[in-house]
Amino acid sequence: MNKKITILGAGISGLTSAYLLQKKGFDVTVIEKNNQPGGAMESVHENGFLFDRGPNSLLETVPLIGQLVTELGLESEVIYANDEGNKRYILRDNQLHALPTSLKAFLQTKLFSTAAKFRLLKEPFVGRSDDGYYQSIADFVKRRLGQEFLDYAINPFVAGVYAGRPEKLSVASAFPKLYALEEKYGGLMIGAFKSAKERKKRAEVSKQSAKMLSFRNGMQTLPLALAKQLGNRVLTKS
Ligand SMILES: Cc1cc2nc3c(=O)[nH]c(=O)nc-3n(C[C@H](O)[C@H](O)[C@H](O)COP(=O)(O)OP(=O)(O)OC[C@H]3O[C@@H](n4cnc5c(N)ncnc54)[C@H](O)[C@@H]3O)c2cc1C
Repeated sequence: MNKKITILGAGISGLTSAYLLQKKGFDVTVIEKNNQPGGAMESVHENGFLFDRGPNSLLETVPLIGQLVTELGLESEVIYANDEGNKRYILRDNQLHALPTSLKAFLQTKLFSTAAKFRLLKEPFVGRSDDGYYQSIADFVKRRLGQEFLDYAINPFVAGVYAGRPEKLSVASAFPKLYALEEKYGGLMIGAFKSAKERKKRAEVSKQSAKMLSFRNGMQTLPLALAKQLGNRVLTKS
């Protein structure tokens, strides 16, 4: 007899797990407290507009995403973001500067001063903090990369994602992957280099170079397609 597995929650995590477990031959049931699958991924059509109430896109960082899209027959539903949309601008001294995405662009940008660029060379030699889990994003970034990186790279990003101050947020909670680079490899540069090698082995791509995609009928397309495959194994409220 196949092992029975019950998963609570038909969000993307529960449904993807159920789908993969079912493929491996497990007898899976997903129980969802709401009346439709998707969890945070909820797409609504209203007055001729499409609203994504949760995520509006995803990054194709792992091969599993493409695999799911193909297996679920969603290729024609996928919309990739225009590369132009990947550009980010930061305001400094009343001037917009494109956030550099290559070494050449970084060396040429006026977003960071020459001193701040040289300060980066120190990063591999900066030790760990004793504050561990409780250090703020601001303390972490200032210690490793310097004040300018905090002000003109990290702070705008933190404000955009968390609507919060880097002095108030824990780096380990808000940016666990960044924190892990220091914990695991002892520094961000060496960590970025080594983890890129490890990612390559797993055929993954970094968030910076991953393609961004959505679906013609919104992000809920993906959980709905997974739920359809699972059929009556997904039990919703209604
Ligand atoms: C506003 C917003 C914008 C976002 N934007 C992006 C984005 O652009 N790109 C991106 O990659 N990510 C984004 N995210 C994050 C992403 O949506 C989530 O990481 C992801 O959807 C989480 O999926 P999940 O299945 O883990 O959890 P959820 O989607 O939260 O699913 C959990 C499910 O479990 C159910 N449940 C909970 N408790 C029980 C119970 N006791 N019994 C039965 N069912 C239960 C819930 O009803 C829910 O359906 C965004 C999130 C939000 C809220």
